[in-house]
Amino acid sequence: MDRPRRIPCPVYRWQAGVGGMAEAGAVGGLAGNDGWSGRLEEALCFRCRLPGGELYGLGAHRVVRCPSCRQVFISPRLRADARVELYADASYFEGGIYGNGTHWSMAAALQRTWSAGRLGLMEDGVPGPVRGRTLLEVGCAYGWFLAAARERGYEVTGLEYSAPAAVRAAELLGVDIHVGELGEAGLAEGAFDAVAFWDVIEHVSDPLAFLREVRRVVRPAGIAAFSCPYFDSVPARLFRSRWWALKPTEHIWHFTSRTLRSVFEDAGFRIRVLRRNPLLRANLGRLDSIVGIAVPV
Ligand SMILES: [Zn+2]
Repeated sequence: MDRPRRIPCPVYRWQAGVGGMAEAGAVGGLAGNDGWSGRLEEALCFRCRLPGGELYGLGAHRVVRCPSCRQVFISPRLRADARVELYADASYFEGGIYGNGTHWSMAAALQRTWSAGRLGLMEDGVPGPVRGRTLLEVGCAYGWFLAAARERGYEVTGLEYSAPAAVRAAELLGVDIHVGELGEAGLAEGAFDAVAFWDVIEHVSDPLAFLREVRRVVRPAGIAAFSCPYFDSVPARLFRSRWWALKPTEHIWHFTSRTLRSVFEDAGFRIRVLRRNPLLRANLGRLDSIVGIAVPV
């Protein structure tokens, strides 16, 4: 696999690190292992079921764009069974910032800042007390956001694809964490006032099916809260095939604000808030992250 060329630019290095903190990243994990190259599948646009035209090659993978709806995605991508193994590997979370000494406190401070900012965005425009609201986080990693939410008064439920991370979250929170995909968790219809999924939608097998399941489990007056890297960001445009968020084993879909609005609408949501500003607490220090709030329609 082609590895990004080292660029001696402090902004680039900072952003690559912050992106890793956002979702742990697979630094030193299985993502760079060429052993995956025999376990690839061609992918189609989840919306149009069309193959994409190539934008960049990334070793065994390509970044492609749907000729009809402009959705950007990875093809070929890891097969589903290989992606299960990728996230089951403890090094997916522990190779990056979460598990080691010197960077940990900075990472924790950023996570606290993002959590506070995101909870603030979620509460804007929703009248009434927070206490007692039900919150599901899909992709709760080690449970830091849920811990912050619980301090604010939410009743929290976590779901995590990576079993080693779910164990850590359950220890931190003292509650059961669902392991697996959202559609497999057996959650009741309309069970949650809020469903949050930070840096998750770019990983899921089918974003539209995922959002339809979010729509099913959120209350009609509830909200969906999300973030993801975005393909029309300055870093994505500037660094092109060397953009740090092009992690082709994990990030299999890449959105713009336009394609995000489209997939949320198709799933029965309207996006009420989209924020890109890296000075906002919800996004602090991230030049390529978009944070949003969507409401059921
Ligand atoms: Zn398409």
